[in-house]
Amino acid sequence: MEKNKSFDLLETEIDKFYKELNTSSKGISSNEAKKRLSSYGHNIIQREKQGSRFKEFIQNFISVMAILLWVSGFISIFAGMPQLGIAIWAVNLINGFFSYWQARAAKKATDSLSKMLPSYAQVIRDGKMVQIDVEDLVPGDVFQITAGNNISADARIISNDSLEVDESALTGESNLVHKQVSYEQGHGKFGIKNEIFAGTVVSSGSALAVAVKTGMNTELGHIAKLTETNKKVSSPLQIELNRLTRQISLIAFMIGIVFFISAIFFVHYPAAKSFIFALGMVVAFIPEGLLPTVTLSLAQGVQRMAKKHALVKSLNSVETLGETTVIASDKTGTLTQNQMTINHIWFPHKIYEVTGEGYVNNGEIQFQSSKIYLKEDAGLQKLIDIAALNSDTEIKQEKSEKPKIIGTPTEAAHDILVAKSGADKKEIIASYPRIKELTFDSNRKRMTTIHQMNDGKIFIAVKGALSSVISKCSKIFDNGKIRDLTGDDKDSISKADDTFASEGLRSLAMAYRIDDSKLDEYDIDNTERELIFVGFTVMADPPRPEVYDAVQKAHQAGIKIMMVTGDSGLTAKSVAKKIGIVSDNARIISDTDLDNMSDDELSEAVKGEVIFARVAPEQKYRIVKANQRNGEIVASTGDGVNDAPALKQADIGIAMGMTGTDVAKNAADMILTDDNFASIVTAIEEGRTVYSNIQKFLVYILNSNLPEAIPSALFLFSRGLIPLPLTVMQILTVDLGTDMLPALGLGAEQIEPGVMDKPPRPRKSHLLSKSIIWKAFGWYGLIASLVSTGAYFFINHLHGWPSVPLASSGVYYREATTMTLAAIVFSQIAAAINCRTEQTSVFKIGIFSNKHIVTGIIFEILILVVLIYVPFFQGIFNTGPLSIKNWIFLFLIPIPLILIEEIRKYIVRNLHKNK
Ligand code: ATP
Repeated sequence: MEKNKSFDLLETEIDKFYKELNTSSKGISSNEAKKRLSSYGHNIIQREKQGSRFKEFIQNFISVMAILLWVSGFISIFAGMPQLGIAIWAVNLINGFFSYWQARAAKKATDSLSKMLPSYAQVIRDGKMVQIDVEDLVPGDVFQITAGNNISADARIISNDSLEVDESALTGESNLVHKQVSYEQGHGKFGIKNEIFAGTVVSSGSALAVAVKTGMNTELGHIAKLTETNKKVSSPLQIELNRLTRQISLIAFMIGIVFFISAIFFVHYPAAKSFIFALGMVVAFIPEGLLPTVTLSLAQGVQRMAKKHALVKSLNSVETLGETTVIASDKTGTLTQNQMTINHIWFPHKIYEVTGEGYVNNGEIQFQSSKIYLKEDAGLQKLIDIAALNSDTEIKQEKSEKPKIIGTPTEAAHDILVAKSGADKKEIIASYPRIKELTFDSNRKRMTTIHQMNDGKIFIAVKGALSSVISKCSKIFDNGKIRDLTGDDKDSISKADDTFASEGLRSLAMAYRIDDSKLDEYDIDNTERELIFVGFTVMADPPRPEVYDAVQKAHQAGIKIMMVTGDSGLTAKSVAKKIGIVSDNARIISDTDLDNMSDDELSEAVKGEVIFARVAPEQKYRIVKANQRNGEIVASTGDGVNDAPALKQADIGIAMGMTGTDVAKNAADMILTDDNFASIVTAIEEGRTVYSNIQKFLVYILNSNLPEAIPSALFLFSRGLIPLPLTVMQILTVDLGTDMLPALGLGAEQIEPGVMDKPPRPRKSHLLSKSIIWKAFGWYGLIASLVSTGAYFFINHLHGWPSVPLASSGVYYREATTMTLAAIVFSQIAAAINCRTEQTSVFKIGIFSNKHIVTGIIFEILILVVLIYVPFFQGIFNTGPLSIKNWIFLFLIPIPLILIEEIRKYIVRNLHKNK
């Protein structure tokens, strides 16, 4: 593979530089790009270190728990119980392989997410600007970057418009760096002014650059090679589970000690035999496979969320989503459709209603019918000129495809308006060529373009939020004449705006100024001043239809929704009311209100019903913090560069996948591929489901411990009068064969009806809550113990007990212990089915609807049959064949167990209903 060119090129003259890279300011051809792709390779940073897979594999066999089991196996063999030693090693091996497989499956699930959200680069190929997958960028490509973009290669800048770059990802320094076209050595390795680096981001401005190094040849690639970037960060849930596993293991060892001492004193076993007896108990109690099962379950949750348009970046977020108590959401495009239609235009003393379908035909915007007539109105002509000039949006249509908006829906709506008025955007642009623009930003809430007029004069076109534009106006264009803007004018403008806003409509003001000659500098202060107000357009942006239900669901789930928007307060409140977020009493807090509030006042305010309007992205950070001070777990949305601090501060930062900048996506924990608020609520529902599934399989795994321990306890405390109803090897069978498979199925359980009817889970709540312990041991465990020991005595009864003593060896003893073992397995089958729901009837969700559990159960029974009928295993596991009658009894066991649990669920459901 060819090496990328070196960076001495930065200093060379531009022509030599192009020659060296065999490119030009117009980039390369797509054919050439293909050739370079095969010689330089894809533009990818490989983060996984070679050999780390082997390490990952081995780690499953050398954990503290695994080492204990290896040692226990040795001791058993030396103590004269080779079968037990081998069985313990088998448990360890199977668990190790299983854990490795689960970890790989979990990794695969999360890795596949990055493919769902490809990154793009704007590149000149064959002389035209096209969008390509970042992975296909090659040295020599000329690419464009604008504010919010990730930089995808090490490159030399060839044209620059106030480019500022955040290089903290490489340098660790957070100050922004100005870049330029000419070579200048700044500070340090990354200080060269005409050079930009892969992995850094554009904070403002724009530039064209030529890619010099790509993929692993970039500086970022070198760093990735040096450091193992795939450092695993454990989520709180994984940490808690680790702790839990250790605690349970400690309890298991203590039980082991009690059993060891009891075996010596009560049944006078020799020390070696007592040790093995106790060891079986310890091994059975240690939940070896718990952590990998949880990791896989979280990863499966991530995959399910991805299918529902929510890409979470870490397993951590799945958990936090389930705890979310407040969603701070943007309005435009998230709660609404972002499909703007202009329906009115307001001028001093007149309002036009805009009707008629605007549509695009063969790349040209057509209009059907409209009540607006351009030629009759000078004000309208001015407004249309401003709308056409002050736009970076294009509407494109390729053959029979649907028209595509390249730009923003707000500007597309204005393009349609221009067409409806009968004007031709292209003609207007041609007669007023653009000299410069001051791009739209959410803080200024306006955009300005500067144009050259035929007569040498300069035309400055401004559009933006009413309050933001009016504050820069000193005159008004009224009925073809320009006069001073009075207080009365401002009143009537704002009154009209309020009327539209209270209907949920949004306004956009248009203003202009003509300068006699070119200015030295077109900065904000020089251009956006003494403007002439022309009028404003009024747009409808209907709520997304699915948002109504999502809002209701969130409220039902005890989650508060807070609208945080750049739009005006009345528009925001009207939309929020319409979709059920707030009532009429909601307080509107504007950007200035927010600035005047102390942190404490803000924390107090967010306890009530509030809407934040006209806020700048930076202010979102304070809103998130204010909620967090009240103990809330906050999910916050954002899309722009300046949203990054709020996204990082939020417990769950949510970026928009379609309209969001790379910066916002980098800062976020979750990305919505459809920009839709409803997907946030769905993700929360999934987050809650994953947590409750983990609790479900925890109950399932723990519940078999009691029926495994009770037979040994009976044996010990009856001082051997009751022969051991379940042998140590049989205990291991339950641990080995029957626990794990259905548990996996529980991890993949679908959303249970009612998970969104409960309030959010408190952050401090523990996975192994009292109710879980109670359910596992005091309910499921107890029932299974009664059934299995019952089966043991029942078989003995069939053979004459209590008239004859309980069999302690021979065929009858084998049959009795086999029945105890089989009864535990069949109780486990019932437990797997029962654990599927917390309160809902399993018949409602379909008793066999979880295929994983059904497969797990079939395997469980097969393993049991093999152990009972294959002579080799009969010897090892002390099992013997069972009669048809016994099998019928076993197959009937789950029925009452499921019915009893159904009754409990029914009672709990009704108790909740009556609360
Ligand atoms: P949200 O914050 O809910 O997404 P928003 O779109 O109103 O809502 P911003 O994108 O921050 O928020 O825009 C703020 C205001 O700036 C808008 O309400 C609008 O008045 C004005 N505006 C939006 N887009 C443009 C644009 N392309 N040119 C000029 N002004 C714009």
